[in-house]
Amino acid sequence: MKLFDLSGKTAIVTGANTGLGQGIAEALAAAGADIAAVGRTPPADTQKAVEALGRRFLSISADLSSMEPIGRVVAETLAAFGGIDILVNNAGIIRRNDALDFTEDDWDAVMDVNLKTTFFLTQAVGRQMVAQGRGGKIINVASMLSYQGGIRVASYTASKSGLAGVTKLLANEWAAKGINVNAIAPGYFETNNTEALRADEGRSRDILARIPAGRWGSPTDLGGAAVFLASAASDYVHGTLLPVDGGWLAR
Ligand code: NAP
Repeated sequence: MKLFDLSGKTAIVTGANTGLGQGIAEALAAAGADIAAVGRTPPADTQKAVEALGRRFLSISADLSSMEPIGRVVAETLAAFGGIDILVNNAGIIRRNDALDFTEDDWDAVMDVNLKTTFFLTQAVGRQMVAQGRGGKIINVASMLSYQGGIRVASYTASKSGLAGVTKLLANEWAAKGINVNAIAPGYFETNNTEALRADEGRSRDILARIPAGRWGSPTDLGGAAVFLASAASDYVHGTLLPVDGGWLAR
């Protein structure tokens, strides 16, 4: 079990107030990590759950649609915990429209949060990890649309396909520095992100019919993959996308 022990580690998790980020933060805390939660909505429930597990919790208020908070996120985490061992880039948005009608705003908004800020936050944390000299773990939250095209989500597909590429690039550059850069690719999970899909009876039925596990995922289903990629158990795993999808990609 020591392979999966995160005692004494500090993890930054973006978008940890709800959904998959909340599930990931709680799983890392259960494995022993202290949590710095970064986002725009106060993560009250996550804080309660993490502290109930006996771990320390820091809330960093930040809108990740711009580069502005990046320096602060690193500085506030260091001030509270003294180092950074794990970064989970989970915060993300989606905009739905036909490709023929897709707007520049829907393109830029999604690319800024899902790809641009994610890259530059990772760069800032990577610099810190290199300076600390004890390696680190970066986990990007990718998507089935890192593999597939999707429908009516042009900028989301671009961002998540781009994130898959950047995950591999960073792994190539940082593996020899002891920093593992990998991604989790969730299938279809019950969160705010998929509310519109689940409300559409036809799409919802078609999606469920294709999932071999026979159910949508719940945020707790991601915990094992997150702890694996955050822990010593994955020390020789670099640049991979780990699907957690109830078998979706196997169909
Ligand atoms: P969610 O419930 O909508 O959570 C998204 C999180 O990102 C929230 O914490 C949200 O904060 C945060 N966020 C969005 N924009 C932000 C900004 N500008 N600044 C700071 N935080 C921001 O959806 P989710 O499903 O858990 O999504 C988490 C990640 O999983 C996303 O990257 C998503 O693309 C990915 N994903 C989800 C699924 C799925 O089936 N649900 C599948 C594949 C991948 P607020 O609450 O303040 O908006």
